[in-house]
Amino acid sequence: MKKLEKYPVLIFNTLSRKKEEFKSLIPGKVGMYVCGPTVYNEPHIGNVRTFTSFDLVYRLLIYLGYKVRYVRNITDAGHLTNDRGEGVNRMESQAKLEQLEPMEIVQKYTVSFHKIMEMFNNYPPTIEPTATGHIVEQIEMIENLISKNFAYEVNGSVYFDVQEYSEKFNYGELSGRKIDELIAGYRDLDGQEEKRNSIDFALWKKASPEHIMQWRSPWGMGFPGWHLECSVMSTKYLGEDFDIHGGGMDLKFPHHECEIAQNKASCNHGGAKYWMHTNMLNFNGQKMSKSLGNSILPIQFLTGDHPLLDKAYSANTVRFLFLQTHYSSELDVNIKGLQDAEKGLNKLLSASEIISKLDTLKLSKTSLPDDNSIEAWKETVLKDLCDDFNTSKSLATMFEIATEINAWQNKQKPIEIYSLGAIEGLKTFFNDIIFEVFGLKKEEKSNSGALDATMKLIIDLRAKARESKDWATSDQIRDQLATAGIAIKDQKDGESSYSVN
Ligand code: AMP
Ligand code: ZN
Repeated sequence: MKKLEKYPVLIFNTLSRKKEEFKSLIPGKVGMYVCGPTVYNEPHIGNVRTFTSFDLVYRLLIYLGYKVRYVRNITDAGHLTNDRGEGVNRMESQAKLEQLEPMEIVQKYTVSFHKIMEMFNNYPPTIEPTATGHIVEQIEMIENLISKNFAYEVNGSVYFDVQEYSEKFNYGELSGRKIDELIAGYRDLDGQEEKRNSIDFALWKKASPEHIMQWRSPWGMGFPGWHLECSVMSTKYLGEDFDIHGGGMDLKFPHHECEIAQNKASCNHGGAKYWMHTNMLNFNGQKMSKSLGNSILPIQFLTGDHPLLDKAYSANTVRFLFLQTHYSSELDVNIKGLQDAEKGLNKLLSASEIISKLDTLKLSKTSLPDDNSIEAWKETVLKDLCDDFNTSKSLATMFEIATEINAWQNKQKPIEIYSLGAIEGLKTFFNDIIFEVFGLKKEEKSNSGALDATMKLIIDLRAKARESKDWATSDQIRDQLATAGIAIKDQKDGESSYSVN
């Protein structure tokens, strides 16, 4: 609790468009909701950036002494190919493609998402609710909205009445969109006929008979609209008012705007006090997209198996790369940046190893004047982290500390100018920031002969699988080793080598 008082946290609130001092609703406790993945395909590295940014927020708040309830949902129903609530259900269309049940798609990609989160050392949320697990609560919220005249039913579907809402509240307060411009923009789009107004959005959609994911409701068989689940699950677990709501910038409109509208219309409370939006990740200066061939899956960094990568990069290196850019800025991933991140990470980890092994017995037991500079470094790192989670700025000071540690090691500077207490304090602080707050992992350096022999055996077995065109086994070996931090790179001459990340 002592740390809490000393370092006020500032958050850029995208709702007020200002940096504000964070004051939790309940002293010492934080409720945070982050929109989770839609589990219909493999998460790409952009998704990982967004979740890692919020992992850092979570980790810093814990470090500062807060007890955090972190809710991140799994969208396993309701998210259609078009965010306005039209089109086909993403889980169902993928199920057709893969010839699986929609809930098999949900399971497959939820498991995969969890593995990737673990690989990138993201803590699990404290609650991970699913949309399909909260159909009853979603129906209840719709009934509430209908009873207050903010929603209407047509042909078995229910829509939110945006015009009615904007008589009383400010639709567009988060995204800055103007209702008239929205109406003009939506007028000519298909599939709007039954709505009172083109900007109204679906709370419940009537399901056609071939639709597999459908539930019984007072309006007949159907499924919930995508925006509804987040209003329902955030308030169920965090209350009608809670502290922080996060997501990627692309979710600001319509998803988060609609969430606020649903919350205010149903209970007069807007949900979160502080809204945080993370910026997008691009690859080689371009927005990631399958058609440009630059869409990268997390596993491809670990194996190096992508035409635009020169080699494998560990999840730790990619995480470090994320830290170098403020969450609210666009992040461009390219080979030069990855190579630099690898060097930066090594410098930080080797400084941590040096300071952890330092012989401090000879140091003064009473404090010395130079101890002040150690305190100043610590203060700066914390101040920058608390200033809207500025990891990039705090890294600069962490590097200054790393340079100092190296100077003691190389005998370029005497460590004796500092007291034992100051050095011990710095050791704990430096390691806590790297491992607890930044969430980087200690890298196991392995040069043992035993591993070489084991890997030779595995590589031979994989070569045999490839000879007999058993691609499934060969890919399984490569991917599982990648998950364990060992990258196999297939060379042009047909040989394979390995490296430990
Ligand atoms: P989805 O599974 O598509 O709902 O996305 C999960 C999260 O990833 C959302 O918060 C998105 O805003 C975010 N996201 C999607 N694309 C990117 C990207 N290229 N860079 C960063 N975050 C992204
Ligand atoms: Zn959401």
